[in-house]
Amino acid sequence: MNALEKWLTLRPSFGSGGPATPATPATPQAAGSHPVADVAVVAKGPGPRPDAGPANDTPEAWRRWYHRTVDYRAIVGKRTLAEALPLAYGDAVCEWHKRFGASPPEGVCAGCGGPLEGQGVYSLHDGARLHDDGCLTRYGRRWRTAAVEGLALLGISPPPGWEP
Ligand SMILES: [Zn+2]
Repeated sequence: MNALEKWLTLRPSFGSGGPATPATPATPQAAGSHPVADVAVVAKGPGPRPDAGPANDTPEAWRRWYHRTVDYRAIVGKRTLAEALPLAYGDAVCEWHKRFGASPPEGVCAGCGGPLEGQGVYSLHDGARLHDDGCLTRYGRRWRTAAVEGLALLGISPPPGWEP
């Protein structure tokens, strides 16, 4: 079972109607392990954009937020589930990095670890400073890989085809 199939079994309301036309509200029993409040979110629509991130750092809060983010990307963004999942997962990767990512080293390139000298140094919003595109790619892959591993520990798997 791949991540998309697993998602569909977890979200019976998406199984028949698709994200653009949510099925009739699922009963708490049909929702399996999902709390009743989460079912209400699907029944009423996704609600406000879940920009604030998970309410806390328990696996349950992260998964609930991730499901809300997928709902938001699918329903408000009018996307298919296959399109919404990687976008929501990307949101989760960024949120994980913001909360738990290692601080970039000071005074050296976050990509290669070399000294920073001269002009043309990239400065990123997380404080990382980098030499060039190669160092940017290396640093991005490193923090995204760490986030994917952290999300897996919270029970959130990457959707099919997602690459750090
Ligand atoms: Zn570098």
